Amino acid sequence: MSVQRAAFITLHACPLAAPGQGKSGGMNVYVRQLASALGNMGMEIDIFTREHPDVVNRIETIGPNVRVIHIAAGDTEAHVGELYAHLPAFLKQLNAFREEEGLEYDVIHSHYWLSSWVGRELSQAMGVPHLVTFHTLGLIKMQSRAGEVEQPERPVVEAEVMASADRIIAFSPHERDAMARLYGADAAKVSLVPCGVDLSVFRPLDQKAVRDRLGLNGEKILLYVGRVEPLKGLDLLVETAAQMDSEDGVRVIVVGADVNGDREMDRVKLLAKERDLEGQIDFVGQVDHKELPLYYNAADVCVVPSYYESFGLVALESMACGTPVVATRVGGLSTIIQHGRTGYLKPWRCPDAFANSVEMIISSDGLQQSMGTAARKHAEGMGWDTIASMMWDEYTILTGRLLDDNNKC
Ligand code: UDP
Repeated sequence: MSVQRAAFITLHACPLAAPGQGKSGGMNVYVRQLASALGNMGMEIDIFTREHPDVVNRIETIGPNVRVIHIAAGDTEAHVGELYAHLPAFLKQLNAFREEEGLEYDVIHSHYWLSSWVGRELSQAMGVPHLVTFHTLGLIKMQSRAGEVEQPERPVVEAEVMASADRIIAFSPHERDAMARLYGADAAKVSLVPCGVDLSVFRPLDQKAVRDRLGLNGEKILLYVGRVEPLKGLDLLVETAAQMDSEDGVRVIVVGADVNGDREMDRVKLLAKERDLEGQIDFVGQVDHKELPLYYNAADVCVVPSYYESFGLVALESMACGTPVVATRVGGLSTIIQHGRTGYLKPWRCPDAFANSVEMIISSDGLQQSMGTAARKHAEGMGWDTIASMMWDEYTILTGRLLDDNNKC
């Protein structure tokens, strides 16, 4: 018999939260999309997340076979940095709910280090395998940018869970190698399963029509999408725009809200002012996930200037819309973008080099078009159905159950 029921643990990233603001980003999108794709294929998924102030229904069905279950643990307003102390309470309440409802699972899949603590305890109590996706790792973040600070418990829990988990999912070979190098993880226990993209939402549209709709004129458009925090390196995009010398003029659009008040956003706006770019940069704030294809399609190039990305969903979404990407050669970005074919990867955080690559694309309609076509084609191999199928296989191998393809469609 194939795997039928999985519990997802995503303590602080509720899949119902709108991405692109606060702490809600790629992980929220990933959990929702992966669970929905598995649900559509017939697997039953319960997603356990912490109760927060925006909860409308404690239990919410979000698609065929998929429920989001909010578990009370600690102050609903608690910041992510305070949640470590609430892990035992979350586990206790989750177990109480599970026992009350008589719920059994074939596999526990936890997301992020906080949830991985809960997943480990739960899997041991239930005697079922534990699979973990860390999404980001504390030690990699701290190595990627001076000034990144992580709570001391994080690398300890990450190392412990890497040792105890039955399987670890990494998004890229870089992440897998870093797990072995920095945490002593057994690389043989790590499977590579990338993130996916919703190909029916993120698709090529008529550029003129979407520009009209967004009120954009004939300027070349550089797009940034993502939460605004220092690790995203937005200052590099501002410096890049300052180096550019396009005859048609260049407009930079920044989509996404600040993670922490407006601290980083203010810093970036100040830099834009200092570079005399105030009139050329639009900060549009958070945009509904389903509206984003308009922006990706309006853009000539999507720029991802991050210090680190474990995956980089934004790059894949842009490619699915047929828009080339210029990005730093870090983490998962180096596996998504094919340098010279679907965009450019830059090994240094150097505005000149970024500007050069962006200018190559926007100054040649032929190159822009061929890169866009190749980008969409590449993204077509990474729809959520494909990724969910890979994950289902991981669950099946882990539980030692025979793959039953009839149950997967
Ligand atoms: N996003 C969104 N609205 C915004 C900004 C971002 O829906 O205003 C989404 C974006 O489409 C992507 C996610 O947030 O799916 C960001 O994921 P990524 O992996 O690029 O970065 P992370 O948030 O994980 O650091």
